[in-house]
Amino acid sequence: MKKYSDMSKEELLTLKAQLDKEYADIKAKGLALDMSRGKPSADQLDLSMGLMNVLSSDSDLKCETGVDCRNYGVIDGIPEAKRLLGEMSEVDPDHIIIYGNSSLNVMFDSIARSMTQGVMGNTPWCKLDKVKFLCPVPGYDRHFKITEFFGIEMINVPMTPQGPDMDMVEKLVSEDASIKGIWCVPKYSNPQGYTYSAETVERFAHLKPAAPDFRIYWDNAYSIHHLYDDNQDFLVEILEACAKAGNPDLVYKFTSTSKVSFPGSGIAAVAASKANLEDFRSYMQIQTIGHDKLNQLRHVKFFKNIDGLHEHMRKHAAILRPKFEMVLNTLDRELGGLGIGEWTKPHGGYFISFDSMEGCAKAIVAKAKEAGVVLTGAGATYPYGKDPKDSNIRIAPSFPTPEDLGKAAEVFVLCVKLTSVEKLLA
Ligand code: PLP
Repeated sequence: MKKYSDMSKEELLTLKAQLDKEYADIKAKGLALDMSRGKPSADQLDLSMGLMNVLSSDSDLKCETGVDCRNYGVIDGIPEAKRLLGEMSEVDPDHIIIYGNSSLNVMFDSIARSMTQGVMGNTPWCKLDKVKFLCPVPGYDRHFKITEFFGIEMINVPMTPQGPDMDMVEKLVSEDASIKGIWCVPKYSNPQGYTYSAETVERFAHLKPAAPDFRIYWDNAYSIHHLYDDNQDFLVEILEACAKAGNPDLVYKFTSTSKVSFPGSGIAAVAASKANLEDFRSYMQIQTIGHDKLNQLRHVKFFKNIDGLHEHMRKHAAILRPKFEMVLNTLDRELGGLGIGEWTKPHGGYFISFDSMEGCAKAIVAKAKEAGVVLTGAGATYPYGKDPKDSNIRIAPSFPTPEDLGKAAEVFVLCVKLTSVEKLLA
């Protein structure tokens, strides 16, 4: 396989003519496919249909402390739900608050609370001249949208397969008191599928931020979302690491069952030190009289415990794994050795991250769209939607059927080839 960059102009022109023809043929098919959304497919959702049957009109709808889950009360979650989400988060139930249906909502609220009320008695961020957040890139677009919404300045920190560049993180947070937080997806990260190494977690736990109200936003959205039984990533538990390092209040850890049961109809939780949780509660008790305890009960009855969760996630993996492998095999077969792209090979999570040659991502996404394949917008994985190299594209293999995914992957590699040839000829 000859690298594109080693080809002569004549060779590139011949190749372009051939690729142009393939592209015209594919466009003529009038495809309408979507590889942009990191959501479970319908057959994954079917796995959780039992949730609809675990409660009925003659069920006992009291939680284990005897509270009627149909009514107000138990604002921070029924004990059995704290146990279940505690097991999932690897923390003691005493360090858990159960929320509503979305962890992203809890992250938004945490920033809103810090803005208007301040963090544990510190000056509310809205009264400060400048508030900044560190953003490991590429990262999750919705995190960046939250900080952008609140006018928080975002600083890019490069990701590595071991996690964010910790030399940079340590230096910045220790020198600049206006840096108040960092967005982290520590396991099977969105979009690269990387898991932070034990050393990275230790270095996070030992951070010495200049700002007393600096917090790590540890979004463990993919904690149990493995693709393989025998090839799983392991993440050191951060709350305990922080406590051991003498920094118990440094981290907020978020989770939800969105991609375990039903996205939008799952349950979310935050785990943190007791002092941090008091901060959360003081806000929450003004905000609501209680979250959906029937849904908490439903989840506990359906999954029972961590073993039930793992067993369920194996069924998700059986559906997701062939899809990931299909995309990865197409990338390897069609683009391997051409020097026009690199991609990650995750062991879990929902995404594959693709890096094209510099300056090509927007054009690849546009070409794919013209051929009927929607990809995540180029730039979405960077704060302000600005990828400085215009090279990162997030691939989401979960939602399409295997048949559609196969077609979409073929369109994608063709668009990468054609855009790269055009770039080299320009
Ligand atoms: N965090 C990450 C990293 C995600 O990828 C997603 C969904 O794609 C979410 C949070 C959303 O979670 P929730 O549905 O609990 O709001």
